[in-house]
Amino acid sequence: MNAPPILRPADELPRDGQGRLLLKGLTQSELERWLVEELGERPFRVTQIWKWLYIRFVSSFEEMTDLSKGLREKLVELARVDAIAVDAVFRASDGTRKITWKLDSGAIIESVLIPSENRVTLCISSQVGCAMNCQFCLTGKMGLRGHLSTAEIVDQVAQTRRMFEAEGHISNIVFMGMGEPLHNPDNVIPATQILIDGEGLGLSHRKVTVSTSGLVPEIKRLGQQSDAKLAVSLNATTDEMRDWLMPINRKYPLAVLMEALREFPLRNGDRITLEYVMLKDVNDSLDDARRIVKLIEKVPCKVNLIPFNPHEGTEFQTSPRERVEAFRTFLASKHVHTTIRETRGDDRMAACGQLGRPGEKMPKRMTPPAAMADVLGLTAPSSASPREN
Ligand code: SF4
Repeated sequence: MNAPPILRPADELPRDGQGRLLLKGLTQSELERWLVEELGERPFRVTQIWKWLYIRFVSSFEEMTDLSKGLREKLVELARVDAIAVDAVFRASDGTRKITWKLDSGAIIESVLIPSENRVTLCISSQVGCAMNCQFCLTGKMGLRGHLSTAEIVDQVAQTRRMFEAEGHISNIVFMGMGEPLHNPDNVIPATQILIDGEGLGLSHRKVTVSTSGLVPEIKRLGQQSDAKLAVSLNATTDEMRDWLMPINRKYPLAVLMEALREFPLRNGDRITLEYVMLKDVNDSLDDARRIVKLIEKVPCKVNLIPFNPHEGTEFQTSPRERVEAFRTFLASKHVHTTIRETRGDDRMAACGQLGRPGEKMPKRMTPPAAMADVLGLTAPSSASPREN
């Protein structure tokens, strides 16, 4: 790992309502400090416990049979193995699974397991709901109900491995479930380092991807403190359109975002992924493709085109396949590495942008630009929407 080890103050480590430490929320350095300095255990105990958590995926301290009985009893009193509980598992016809988890708070969050020919990807949540209010996203309609702790994030991976061990290792983790991961960096960044830790889950840093709507200061922090890869949801090519589709753009407009991407530290051969949800008649014209080419000048990146997954109540439609193909062909002709993401799991509401349930109090819908109001049959704006300073 290149990023420095994470060692948070002891009072910032995740605990449950009874004060018990949630072990899957600790980096290996933090586990070592607790076991050795606080409990007076010998250092080799750290590796033993780490392996029980992330190689054997046990659910209780009783199963950690190479620990002394006394230590196991102490751990039962002071700590917990699992941070979340399985609520339900839904299987889509293509093999994709949506797993819902229950938190101690009673809130439900979701992960999606996507097996394919050469990889198994797990899409995980970082918050309950989301504050970003992207106009095309179902999670955005929930508003923000809370941040997940590091343990609640890591445990989605550990318990999914335990449940689906027979299907092979999870090779890729994407922070693209519920929530804006970089709105919760204090918990997400340690979680990325626990997932990448070579003595535990051992995921390659290239296979752990944090996807953001564009929180610029936190992008910089991710680059300094984590080894994970970066993906950014672009979804529009002008500030006017992005101010509407992704209100975070009012705070960090395209020029500022692109500058942050140019400065993001990358290892040899790594590239940033730019996600682009294709919305019919909104952002799928060849003019948009031309503007992308200009925007990404000097940004080492690839573009992933995502067919929009409709949900109930949305005003957006999926771009026709021919238009998506034409978009890709144009970008490829300008030497932009471009892929089209296949839609998976959409018959069980497990596809991208379909996670969560809208609350009774939905965040305010943003006023679209005048040209879009006509296209989508919405109310025309009465005045220009404000930009934040
Ligand atoms: S797209 Fe991502 S950042 Fe935007 S509202 Fe949905 S979950 Fe939040």
